[in-house]
Amino acid sequence: MAYVFRGGIMFRDDKTSRGEGDLHRFEPKKLVLYAGGDLQVDVGARVLRGQPIAKGVFSPVSGTVADIADVPGGTSVTVESDGEGALFPGLVKMHKKLAECSTEEIIGKIRDAGIVGMGGETGSVADRIADVIGKADVCIADCAGREPYVTCDMAALLERPAAVINGLKIFLRALGVRRGVIAVPEGSAAAKKLTEMTKNSGMISVLATSRKYPAGDERRLVYSYTGRELAHGADTVSLGCVIFNIQTCIAVYDAFVSGLPCVSRVVTVGGDCFTGEYNVDVPIGTSFGDLIDAAGEMCAEPVLMLNGGPLRGIPCGADGTVGKTTRAILLLSEKTAGGSDTDISPVCIRCGRCVTHCPERLMPNRIYDLIRDGKTEEAVAAGALHCVGCGICSYICPGKAPVTELIAGLKAKNNSPEVTDHD
Ligand code: SF4
Ligand code: SF4
Repeated sequence: MAYVFRGGIMFRDDKTSRGEGDLHRFEPKKLVLYAGGDLQVDVGARVLRGQPIAKGVFSPVSGTVADIADVPGGTSVTVESDGEGALFPGLVKMHKKLAECSTEEIIGKIRDAGIVGMGGETGSVADRIADVIGKADVCIADCAGREPYVTCDMAALLERPAAVINGLKIFLRALGVRRGVIAVPEGSAAAKKLTEMTKNSGMISVLATSRKYPAGDERRLVYSYTGRELAHGADTVSLGCVIFNIQTCIAVYDAFVSGLPCVSRVVTVGGDCFTGEYNVDVPIGTSFGDLIDAAGEMCAEPVLMLNGGPLRGIPCGADGTVGKTTRAILLLSEKTAGGSDTDISPVCIRCGRCVTHCPERLMPNRIYDLIRDGKTEEAVAAGALHCVGCGICSYICPGKAPVTELIAGLKAKNNSPEVTDHD
């Protein structure tokens, strides 16, 4: 029985929200990659799948560099695919058995592959491993997320469970940790499948988590495993836990066995403008517009496009592109998205729903009022910096009060990081 945390929301769970449908594949004719600098290609150059084109950036397809342009913060590189998927011959897989690999060799392989946390935590995975060596007792592969529509991780896990298990074993070896758990919602198809697959493993087991949102954020996840509350602002390793997203495990496994760097990921294209869920393995750099076209016909007129889920996502346009941390592109109709911004009333009607559902036991309505009144010190004293940005208070507010957004603004001014969501 999973630990059940206070607050949160239980969302509808039907066949279109479980990640159990087919995992599709899609490769666009053209994709756009972003690099900080130090380009290793010129316009007209032929590139191959996995070939480095800049530091930490690799071509996801074989084809031709069609354009290079300056953009804010760096350079964009447009690659036209030839559809052949020809691999870069310089890819080097790990030639040793895992038990013979040193920590340094594994970290080096992960660093060379340009792998970052693929669940929203954007930092270098190699750096994270190096930081927590000797501090953790358990490594958690996180697939506990329950934000509506966003089923990319579950789809990736159900498609490649062995890659997740073996990726987790690579983490265990690098960290010098003997216990690994895969966190999945209790009662899910993935929980059953992985329990069967890991039943004879002395090192890997399944952690059944609450089916409520936000079961996948690190404070809830650490509680699910230890039964203890992580102190606000504390690193998960203070309770012996280090967490990586499911798709990060798969990327690490691929880098290890084939030398392929991080060039693709599974993304959900969904929302109530589609009749079902559509999870697709796509190259990094695919435009959101191409992704939406690939997902097929819509059943409703979209009024809002989100990069991410309906609670944490941010509005975006069709010209955006898939990055290593892009989890979902949602199209929402007026019924789900609500009216336009001008319809939003900032008035709190004191219904108390946000207080009931806040997983951090805050009083979001009071914090909201204090921030609006310019009483930021009092808002901080009321716990505003302990907000994990789950988005529940804004999502459920009948007055559509932008509570989460105001608190996020206050936190940004106080340089307070959000709690990482690895799911
Ligand atoms: S966004 Fe913050 S204040 Fe709102 S429910 Fe989540 S944790 Fe509580
Ligand atoms: S949910 Fe909205 S209206 Fe209800 S108490 Fe919270 S802020 Fe006020």
